[in-house]
Amino acid sequence: MADCVFCKIIDGEIPSTRVYEDDRIIAIRDLNPQAPVHVLFIPKEHIASADELNKDNCDIVAHIFSVIPGVAKELGLTNGYRIVNNCGEDGGQTVKHIHFHLLGGKKLEVTMA
Ligand code: 5GP
Ligand code: ZN
Repeated sequence: MADCVFCKIIDGEIPSTRVYEDDRIIAIRDLNPQAPVHVLFIPKEHIASADELNKDNCDIVAHIFSVIPGVAKELGLTNGYRIVNNCGEDGGQTVKHIHFHLLGGKKLEVTMA
């Protein structure tokens, strides 16, 4: 996608600090961290949001969730963490390329809304 910041990061047009990469996903440090550890898990395939998932493309979510425990351990998140997906305008999504936030490194506030 031409104007997608995460597609540009995946293509190397915009620099990022990668903490994990395989053939299907990257994980990068968030530019504006909200916790001591704040990493974004991003599929290389451009999927606009969780609302665009379907039976043909949803395997990527399982793949991301299968990778998270190992990365969390490498990043020292031994006492738990939070995984967040913001979807659409009301969900607070600002980058329209699906991604999952991994947050940790401190006791996080419990907020659902
Ligand atoms: P959202 O609000 O869509 O759930 O999350 C988007 C996240 O992407 C935000 O936490 C924001 O800080 C991060 N972000 C936006 N642009 C960039 C960028 O160019 N590089 C990195 N590493 N993170 C970015
Ligand atoms: Zn994209």
